[in-house]
Amino acid sequence: MNWITNYVRPRINSIFSRRETPDNLWTKCDDCGTMLFHREVSDNLNVCTNCGHHMPISPRDRFRALFDGGIFTDIKVPVPPADPLHFRDQKRYPDRLKAAQRETGETEAMLVATGEIGRTPIVAACQDFSFMAGSMGMYVGNAIIAAAQEAVKLKRPLILFSAAGGARMQEGILSLMQMPRTTVAVQMLKEAGLPYIVVLTHPTTGGVTASYAMLGDVHIAEPNALICFAGPRVIEQTIREKLPDGFQRAEYLLDHGMLDRVTPRTELREELIGITRMLLGLPPAVRGDLPPPEGGGELAHALTDAEAKPEDTSKKDTPKAGKK
Ligand SMILES: [Zn+2]
Repeated sequence: MNWITNYVRPRINSIFSRRETPDNLWTKCDDCGTMLFHREVSDNLNVCTNCGHHMPISPRDRFRALFDGGIFTDIKVPVPPADPLHFRDQKRYPDRLKAAQRETGETEAMLVATGEIGRTPIVAACQDFSFMAGSMGMYVGNAIIAAAQEAVKLKRPLILFSAAGGARMQEGILSLMQMPRTTVAVQMLKEAGLPYIVVLTHPTTGGVTASYAMLGDVHIAEPNALICFAGPRVIEQTIREKLPDGFQRAEYLLDHGMLDRVTPRTELREELIGITRMLLGLPPAVRGDLPPPEGGGELAHALTDAEAKPEDTSKKDTPKAGKK
């Protein structure tokens, strides 16, 4: 049109687009929209420092923040036959799997590990919502069985972090069979007299809530996590009624007796240490010299501060584990 639109405007645009911050430096909170410094958010375990919104966290990062010194050992999970039904929607199932593996860097939707929390040996399993919506297929079933067997073998409690969109439709009835399989695995723990603690994270839905996620001795949820079998939209359409505010969210379920606790992620480690030690009949963790989790700066300080208060303030300078 004229030189302003053809020449000046592109120049101005290019100046401003160049000033945009790199994606990896800043994270936008999904809830309050605040731009947060990436490092600050990851130090706070992906919890918004402005509004407390819990953003997704990868199983590996969760374990680093959970285990003493961020040290844990992966437990090998038997890999089931790939694509037994030769399932295809818009994409072939093996292609979907490969894409998810590339994106997350993990084999499948659940990570199992052993290690210590507050000097208490445990087995932990964590479901990964970013891997095909954390869907429960044969691998996830195998992972829970491997975790339960390891816990029974080592006589350790099992802590499971759930996050799932439900069963994996690409495996059809084979994925539904994981519900009884995992129920039997949980029963093994109960027969061995070992604690089984479930931490329900956003979102835990479908067949997972109908099996291992609701069979714990203690159920803890992260704030505002959606926990349900059928989602609110489906229920609303079926009963044709408006559902109450916060329906099927962690706080609502706590009020209605479905959960034992709602605990923010930053306080979860301390809570889990306390509960596991209590269930095992052990004395409370030796306060004052608990090794901090890796990178959990805030968390480590909260823990050591609480420990140091009664007698010794010099213990505040707990050595921090190296960051990756
Ligand atoms: Zn926020």
